[in-house]
Amino acid sequence: MSAVRVAIAGSSGSIGTQTLQVIDDAPGAFEIVALGVGSSADVVIEQAKRYRPEVVVVVDGVARREVAAALPGIEVVGELEHVAEVADVVVNGVVGFAGLVVTTSTLAAGKRLALANKESLIAAGPVVQPLRQTPGAEIVPVDSEHCAIHQCLRATNGGITEVSRLLLTASGGPFRGKSADELRTVTVAEALKHPTWSMGPKITIDSSTLMNKGLEVIEAHELFGVGYDAIDVVVHPQSIVHSMVEFNDGAVIAQLSMPDMRLPIAYALEYPFRGVVSYGGIDWTTLSRLDFATPDRATFRCLDLAYAAGRVGGTAPAWLSAANEVAVEAFLAGRIAWSDIAGVIDAALQQHDGATPTNVDDILEADAAARRIAQGVLQ
Ligand code: MG
Repeated sequence: MSAVRVAIAGSSGSIGTQTLQVIDDAPGAFEIVALGVGSSADVVIEQAKRYRPEVVVVVDGVARREVAAALPGIEVVGELEHVAEVADVVVNGVVGFAGLVVTTSTLAAGKRLALANKESLIAAGPVVQPLRQTPGAEIVPVDSEHCAIHQCLRATNGGITEVSRLLLTASGGPFRGKSADELRTVTVAEALKHPTWSMGPKITIDSSTLMNKGLEVIEAHELFGVGYDAIDVVVHPQSIVHSMVEFNDGAVIAQLSMPDMRLPIAYALEYPFRGVVSYGGIDWTTLSRLDFATPDRATFRCLDLAYAAGRVGGTAPAWLSAANEVAVEAFLAGRIAWSDIAGVIDAALQQHDGATPTNVDDILEADAAARRIAQGVLQ
């Protein structure tokens, strides 16, 4: 069997570097044909020297010239959509809305999208959905919860009609159990300390506010076509049950493993087969309990803001995601308190114009408008 040709957009990030580990662990199974980064010149130069891809994408112009000079014989370009051209599977590990072009170009090229960038699906659902009909195009989610649901859904022959509920698990983040009062003075360092997962700063802050889970509710709706009333969030502090599907007959199927993103990455690369390398295997001699609780929706308001935006549909999820990115950046920069994040997003969404997007330009416009308004709220 010839090696699967893999492209990684966002190769310098947490998902990108773990994808390279998975590929190192399966010698001969995969070939890296494209690497893409925003501006991390040093990292991508080192990766390209090791993996010798056909194409390296560097979005930032200054960094691109540096990379091109360091990699004679490798094509170095500036547009992330080029990663899809040469690959069988594209891993979209870009952070935030910037990953949209990777999602749309991969599906339009009829390739498999191993999707870790949830923002593209959330912001651009109405535009991404028709692209999934492209022959050969498929999304295999890398987000651990959605990957779990993808696995659980293989327990049915009747497909989504046999499903009564999707149950997304949430660790609850570093501030689980804290009151709104206690959360008024939390620092950036405290918010960045995730109890079970090691991830990039943006998603770690999103986990602390439960916005990550809110975005994942919208992501689940878009991926699996299940209505919002049939998607529930269950707090599960150990992050071992990665999500569950309840079927009409009452049966619940769950996927369990220790928190390790290499498992969903390998699943998305190997699908429909199971990889031979074990990631996140459970030691049943030490695992003694699994806890579950309902989320504190009054303190962690971002969860319901996401449900509301999802139900409005159209460009509302794009606005939610963009306003959240602005608010999180402002928090990380010390401009606002952690407890202000939900308020900034809420205030921006109050001004949502109700537009219905029909193409990528509409989404870009919605994203820009939401960012402008969220920045205005910050003033
Ligand atoms: Mg997740």
